[in-house]
Amino acid sequence: MKSARVVLSVDIGGTKCAVALARTDGEILARRSEPTRAAERKPEQVLAGLAAMAREAIADAGMAPGDVAGVGVSCGGPLDRERGVILSPPNLPEWKAVPVRAFFEEALGLPVRVENDANATALAEWRFGAGQGARHLVFLTMGTGIGGGIILDGRLVHGANDLAGEIGHQTILMNGPVCGCGKRGCLEALASGPAIARLARDSMMYGRHKRVLALAGGRPADITAAHVVQAAREGDPFACQILEEAGTYMGIGIANVIQILNPERVILGTIAVHAGDLILDPIRAAVAEYAWERSRQVCAIVPAALGDRAQDLAGVALWVED
Ligand SMILES: [Zn+2]
Repeated sequence: MKSARVVLSVDIGGTKCAVALARTDGEILARRSEPTRAAERKPEQVLAGLAAMAREAIADAGMAPGDVAGVGVSCGGPLDRERGVILSPPNLPEWKAVPVRAFFEEALGLPVRVENDANATALAEWRFGAGQGARHLVFLTMGTGIGGGIILDGRLVHGANDLAGEIGHQTILMNGPVCGCGKRGCLEALASGPAIARLARDSMMYGRHKRVLALAGGRPADITAAHVVQAAREGDPFACQILEEAGTYMGIGIANVIQILNPERVILGTIAVHAGDLILDPIRAAVAEYAWERSRQVCAIVPAALGDRAQDLAGVALWVED
């Protein structure tokens, strides 16, 4: 790896925006964040807020913009990476064709790289987290959605128009539940956080759901994946069964990926980190059933390692070079 440089990471999320000044070896020097408030603020105002936080973070570290090698922007896709334009992310419905790279080049006078958040987080886990040492890996978020990033032969795979790695939208179940993307039976509609909550609501019968419902304050509509995970950690059999069902779908999706890409590591985010073996066991069992032994015996399925730092390191990883 080349000697470490200082770069600025910019994370544009649906609920929170953050900047971090960091070295390319992963050391974070300064950070700032604020709520996105996308409903009240136009995209230009959100970007101006980020540029202001960026200048503050640079000053906090006792540096000047000239000390920074570049800016790495991570945000929800779809986006046009070549042009540095955010197209229409589901988590920011008012953002349509927003030229983020041109904005930050102008506002900060620095070169800017833009990447979708799942790809950028895949790079961050590879460089700094659970993917270190691997040359072929797949990263999957398991949160509000199931985003994916693929690294093969030590390179992030983008595809013909930046849509490679949309692993959450492979079809798992013909005529299955409707997905946020409009298709039916996508992996995301069966194993994401909202899907786990829906599985719990749909399965409430014979009073077996009492612990999950109690954690949601007695309101079925308020059940989230976090309630299911918490109840499962307490040993609640109903919650464990829900995680087993979602984990089985997830495992089938991962088996397909292993069968096609032959990765040496599959790294799973949020829910896998919180639930641990409660969901990793059914995932691994389904992979054992649906992927070739020779493919899966070289592939470790592991939880993500960066936790809250992933958001800051995603943009940093765009500037790490071999
Ligand atoms: Zn979908």
